[in-house]
Amino acid sequence: MPRFFVDGSDGAVRDDRITITGEDARHISRSLRMKVGERLDVSDFSGMIYSCEISSFTEDSVELSVIERKLCESEPSVKVRIFQALPKGDKLDTVIQKCTELGAFDFTPVLTSRCISRPDDKSAKKKCERWQKISAEAAKQCGRGIIPAVNEVCSFDKALAQMSQCTLALVCYECEDGNSVRRHIESNLSRLTSGSTVAIFIGPEGGIAPEEAEKAQSAGIVTVSLGKRILRTETAPLFALSAVMLLTGNCE
Ligand code: SAH
Repeated sequence: MPRFFVDGSDGAVRDDRITITGEDARHISRSLRMKVGERLDVSDFSGMIYSCEISSFTEDSVELSVIERKLCESEPSVKVRIFQALPKGDKLDTVIQKCTELGAFDFTPVLTSRCISRPDDKSAKKKCERWQKISAEAAKQCGRGIIPAVNEVCSFDKALAQMSQCTLALVCYECEDGNSVRRHIESNLSRLTSGSTVAIFIGPEGGIAPEEAEKAQSAGIVTVSLGKRILRTETAPLFALSAVMLLTGNCE
């Protein structure tokens, strides 16, 4: 079934009717040569999928009527929030693109003591807009039911405060050797019911300072190991997120 996307924020879905315009409308009528009465799926990135029937065409739009609303099955049962210390160059682009495919719920870039990249407010805002576009494109490409939000760059303290509110929060710490990510998730599995939130924190290239690890621990957040190899800052979130997805049964 072909799937199209509309911008839910501009009220594209109204009273069980949806209008598709622009490039997508041309694609439906000219390339796919779809006819009135044929079915297609529409996502407005609210986590819902609308099964629709084509009701009419105009010169540059397609009118659809919604036959059925269903929850988008590609959304994971747990909302994994990625708190990533701001890396150098365009590494966060990669993290956002790949973690969107892997099912991340949202992203928060964090400034820690060892971050080398320290954009001013104006360039942080511009970067955030670019990251949001990357997340939107990746979400469409892989069939997500939402577009993961990219939040404003924040301080380590603010990140800890937000992480504390999640069902489970993990600071991936390269110097941790006792507490493995697998063991920690497995022993908390019963709390990770549908809709629960898991926060993952990843340090920058220079790692997490011992004082920061201690601060997290005194805020009640555990530090976990991702294994015996030191992963790059852009590899670690992919691994940690995949581990959460696998262990919570979101890879079926
Ligand atoms: N420069 C540091 C490594 C930083 S790796 C050093 O050489 O020691 C960047 C980040 O990835 C770390 O801060 C941590 O959050 C995560 N990470 C990488 N490997 C990890 C591991 N084996 N266990 C836990 N976290 C890890």
